[in-house]
Amino acid sequence: MPVLGEICDTCKKNTLKVTITPPGDIRPAFSYDISLINKISTKQFGVPLIPDDRVVILNKAPYDDRMEEIIIDGKVIGNIRFEIERLDWVLLLRPSGAKILFEGRNLKSLKNWVMVDDTAVPFIVNGASVLAPGIIDCDNEIIEGNEVIVVSRENNVVAGGRSKMKGSEMISSEYGVGVKTRWNGANNDTSLLKKETKWSDVIKANEAIMEKYTQEAYNFINNTIKNIDKPICISYSGGKDSLVLMQLLNECLEDFDILFADTGLEFPETLDNVEKVAKCYDKNLISTSAGNSFWESFPAFGPPTVESRWCCKICKLGPISSLIENNFEDGCLTFIGQRKYESSARAKSSRVWKNPWVVNQIAAAPIQNWTALHVWLYILKTKAPYNPLYEQGYDRIGCWLCPSSSLSELMRLKDTHPHLEEQFMNQLVSFAESRGLSKKWVRHGMWRWEKPPQNIRKSANNLGISLVQKNSSTQDLNFKITSGYRPCKDDVFSAEGSFGIPLNIEDFKDNNLLSACGVPLYIDGAVIVKNKGINVQIFASGTITVQDRDEKKALSLIKDAKNSVIRSLKCQSCGICVRHCPNKALNIAHNGIHIKNNCEHCSKCIYKCPVIKFNK
Ligand code: SF4
Ligand code: SF4
Repeated sequence: MPVLGEICDTCKKNTLKVTITPPGDIRPAFSYDISLINKISTKQFGVPLIPDDRVVILNKAPYDDRMEEIIIDGKVIGNIRFEIERLDWVLLLRPSGAKILFEGRNLKSLKNWVMVDDTAVPFIVNGASVLAPGIIDCDNEIIEGNEVIVVSRENNVVAGGRSKMKGSEMISSEYGVGVKTRWNGANNDTSLLKKETKWSDVIKANEAIMEKYTQEAYNFINNTIKNIDKPICISYSGGKDSLVLMQLLNECLEDFDILFADTGLEFPETLDNVEKVAKCYDKNLISTSAGNSFWESFPAFGPPTVESRWCCKICKLGPISSLIENNFEDGCLTFIGQRKYESSARAKSSRVWKNPWVVNQIAAAPIQNWTALHVWLYILKTKAPYNPLYEQGYDRIGCWLCPSSSLSELMRLKDTHPHLEEQFMNQLVSFAESRGLSKKWVRHGMWRWEKPPQNIRKSANNLGISLVQKNSSTQDLNFKITSGYRPCKDDVFSAEGSFGIPLNIEDFKDNNLLSACGVPLYIDGAVIVKNKGINVQIFASGTITVQDRDEKKALSLIKDAKNSVIRSLKCQSCGICVRHCPNKALNIAHNGIHIKNNCEHCSKCIYKCPVIKFNK
């Protein structure tokens, strides 16, 4: 039974600590999650993993895509993870999970098992991999790369890992590794308790700790209201965190408004939930919608990426800023359902802060220290009307095509909202075609990064997916820019822009004109221009990004970078800029203009160049 404190309120005994992967934002598994785990388990091992009538907790762990640790009866019994290369889920059992599935069962009714000889058992338990000569029987259908469980003649679980050869080869081979083990030895690991658990029992066992958390949130809300004399509102998103906040705020005061910004990319269930919540709590709903802005801007910016979230500025920050400015002339105090477990930026954020992107708005976060399990226990206890998407496999409720979403969630769209998925896929495929990128690039979610992380690039390589965008004509360099403060990034201002066409990064090396705005550092698929502690990133996709606390500096640098790119690509070798350099760092020869190493990055030469002066 999961208890969030040191004493269980039901039996009054001390609880045991369960070690999970940080940050530990645990949550309940809904029936969709449980049936997904059982489906994966049945496909891989022939039987479902999760017994009926059990409370199951999931813990999101860091990975290339979505990965959830599965916790039952105080044990992490395994995890499921979505593998980008397979476009499928894989279940990785831990010793207790393997015991549930394999011990006391007829092996012939199961899949992906390997039986080893008694003489091999001590070596394997001590950490050795499983060698083919030690294998006495196995599932014949095993193929290389499968997750397998290793058992003894008595059917005791000995190890778990990935097969290195086919089942038929394991039996016949006289040498070679049959299974590369990930964990060895399971004897000390007990299997699950037989007693069934219910969520109503969990709520009861956590009564005192939840009382402490809610009381602390009430105190925080009441003190904040006392200290900040402004009209009060709540930023409601349709998600679980803002729902808890709604309930808490409603218990502290009667009169406040609900703010909701529809990005135009909200799930229909979210829009329904917002209406329902406003009605249910009988509060005034002040809303705005970005309408079709996203789709209108898509041709100019391309798909939003982790590095360049132009959509946040266009579809969210702009509309919500004007909403507040139009409705709260002298500012407002907005309660926000932010929690530190959500991201490292939120972990560092203070609990009350001045919103840098909306004039006169003070934001406050009463549930900053709650985990997702605190949130769900409170929702289940108060029966607050939560968004039904949580029961359909969605963990975060926001824009349905956010580049921060896992590929598993984006693929889930196909089942739950096929028309939305189709609309987006069509746009992505025609974008990919215009850049010489493949349908596989779209299908495997590579569009989510300007420059994918190393593991993702490795997967792209294994799948034969090219990440290089086709270079097109530079005749029409039309730069679109968007900028603003990042609400979740602790006062950081960011500016993102796109030429709308890919750039060949290698082209910039020859004339070195990017030096005019900083020191260029060329990396695969991008160039980082460093200027007095600020990095401007220029990507092969045609996107330029910059972030800094100083808005003016960031805007001035992105302008210099944009103009340096244009100047570099369109230089006419007129030589005008040469005489304007105070350091004599410009040199013109038969192969054109070049900035030398003594350049001090003052940017003066950029604006003397006729290509920039007359570039409209
Ligand atoms: S004017 Fe000279 S020193 Fe200044 S950026 Fe241009 S090349 Fe560099
Ligand atoms: S001033 Fe003339 S030589 Fe210098 S970058 Fe511009 S076009 Fe090229």
